[in-house]
Amino acid sequence: MGRLLTCVVTLVCAMPAVAGPLQVGVAAVDITPPKGCPMAGYYSYRGAEGTHDPLWAKALVLEKDGTTVALVALDLISTPRNLVEQSRQAIEKRTAIPAAQVMIAATHSHTGPILPDGSARADIFTADGAKIAKEYVAGLPGQIAEAVGKAHAARRPARVSFATGIEDGLAFNRRFHMNDGSIGWNPGKKNPNIVRPAGPTDPSVPVVFFETDEKQPQPIAIYVNFAMHLDTVGGLFFSADYPYTLARCLAAVYGEKVVTVFTTGCCGDINHINVASDKPQKGPGEAARIGTRLAAAVLRTLDRLTPAADGPLRVSREIVELPLAPVTNDDVAAAQRVVAALEAKTQPAPKFLDQVQAFKVLDIRQRLGNPLAVEVQVISLGRDLAWVSLPGEIFVELGLQIKQGSPFQQTMIAELANGSIGYIPTRVAYSQGHYEVVSTRCAEGSGEKLVDVALQQLRTQFKQR
Ligand SMILES: [Zn+2]
Repeated sequence: MGRLLTCVVTLVCAMPAVAGPLQVGVAAVDITPPKGCPMAGYYSYRGAEGTHDPLWAKALVLEKDGTTVALVALDLISTPRNLVEQSRQAIEKRTAIPAAQVMIAATHSHTGPILPDGSARADIFTADGAKIAKEYVAGLPGQIAEAVGKAHAARRPARVSFATGIEDGLAFNRRFHMNDGSIGWNPGKKNPNIVRPAGPTDPSVPVVFFETDEKQPQPIAIYVNFAMHLDTVGGLFFSADYPYTLARCLAAVYGEKVVTVFTTGCCGDINHINVASDKPQKGPGEAARIGTRLAAAVLRTLDRLTPAADGPLRVSREIVELPLAPVTNDDVAAAQRVVAALEAKTQPAPKFLDQVQAFKVLDIRQRLGNPLAVEVQVISLGRDLAWVSLPGEIFVELGLQIKQGSPFQQTMIAELANGSIGYIPTRVAYSQGHYEVVSTRCAEGSGEKLVDVALQQLRTQFKQR
């Protein structure tokens, strides 16, 4: 494997002599697409028939001693880099928050719109809805900037407290060691050939609670992070998936003005399917069950909050070049045959993993050998809180390594943030194969490189606090 190159674009804010109060603002803007917009999430065309619950762009703005950052969470499948760059420009224009100080994450809702990105997969499954999808995406940067602008305008002196809860009954590793020595991926409920899961889960639920700094503090926002795929609803209605119920439960307790900002942790290999049970696990009821359980975990956690120590707000980022997964001319020829069959709607349709492989191969060939340039960003507050962005669907093991290696009290990792290059498996998974490894655009070792780059920035910011 070729050497992984990195190029550093770091910005670290100087600590002033006298620390001022933290200012916090939050806002949410409805970004639900119109009916008929093609939906993301699966390998098929799905035109939306309506809305179960609205999709949101939620923004949290923090300001301390002249440094301002924005944390944005979108109820969308991913964050294409173009969308991130255009949104950051619009945000900078509207609020003067520098582009480099904005973290934009997608929750990975599988019942949101497709985001046309020029890939063969998006083109095929956007089908007749291409015009509506493209118009929708063109309007997103303005809507995201509106959310950040409103949060910026609403900022006021605030207190911050935090705690990490546990919810260990919802998330499951979806890769399994099978009887025949192979790796199974979503092998099915009660499958007798399952030996055991091939990886861990991350049951931690980091929570940050923001409230006004006054005699009788009013809650402003609750930041929640959890590592589990948002693929519980399905169907043809737009939905934010389980964060919808999570936010509703917390609003019922703390008031409708409180905004729950949910980001998805490292869950590239984690979903909600319990193979030990034969109960069906799809639909709005399942999303509500999960959202309610998660809300209960958050509420238990809110009973034992610790005030965050005063300290500077810091932000840095690094652009990392990840080598491409290897692709041969024979792979390209096979991929072209698969896509031609999909376009011609030949029956039976190409097999699922052949489709996954074909779209991967064509994406990689389009890059003409150019490595994937991705961003890893770290924002921290004092010695207690750190937020990390990673640019894809990250295996849980990689997230756990960052959390373990981080010197901060509570480190939160938003995957699918500041760009999305698809699955990023562990080195071990590359040798085991199956869906995420067939799908990944980056070469073996990329995930571990992102862990190193995140940890370097976390250590540097911790030392400089
Ligand atoms: Zn996914």
